[in-house]
Amino acid sequence: MINWSKIDTVLLDMDGTLLDLRFDNYFWQTLVPKYYAEREGVSLDQAVKTLAPIFKEEEGKLNWYCLDFWSKKLSINIIELKHQAKATIQVLPYTREFLMALKQADIRCVLVTNAHMDSLTLKMQETGLIEFFDATICAHDIGYPKEHQLFWQGIQQLEGFMVERTLFVDDSLSILKSAETFGLTQLVAIACPDSTQASRQVDDFLAVEHLGELLPIK
Ligand SMILES: [Mg+2]
Repeated sequence: MINWSKIDTVLLDMDGTLLDLRFDNYFWQTLVPKYYAEREGVSLDQAVKTLAPIFKEEEGKLNWYCLDFWSKKLSINIIELKHQAKATIQVLPYTREFLMALKQADIRCVLVTNAHMDSLTLKMQETGLIEFFDATICAHDIGYPKEHQLFWQGIQQLEGFMVERTLFVDDSLSILKSAETFGLTQLVAIACPDSTQASRQVDDFLAVEHLGELLPIK
């Protein structure tokens, strides 16, 4: 599936690739609206309806991933709420096996995420995955989300990877398209980022159910 002899660097997304997107979906689709509904004295349904266009407005932008932005915009301490829900932060099947195999094969492993640093820190604390990474890069450090070409220019300056010898795995098809536009050719989509939902049909990229399908690394 992957010719591992031609890979020096692996760039890995966090939410929906290494970690179960169930947490983030539950957090934004249920917990935040529930908190908002209780505070405003409205029904959950009404809260979801009120929040939907506010969320939509920021989709694909850096603000979407910025906990400070949402804390301010919604007057909710988002990171505190995340801490309350942290028991639902889980790794996806085969994440540890895959990261361990990369380490054993001496392939450079870089976490590239749009997530806010506070969210990244909480998730690394809960899962202990940090030990597997040679570097972690937050979109907030670069100033642009992965959907933007300036993100890829920024990360290439930092990492100096060769596009043709770099594998990138993400669950977001629009982000994979952005990486493809930049020139990355070895791209893999995660078809089942949320363990509570059915896996998706992916046509434009090589897709796997989980990272275990990319093993073994020779
Ligand atoms: Mg993701």
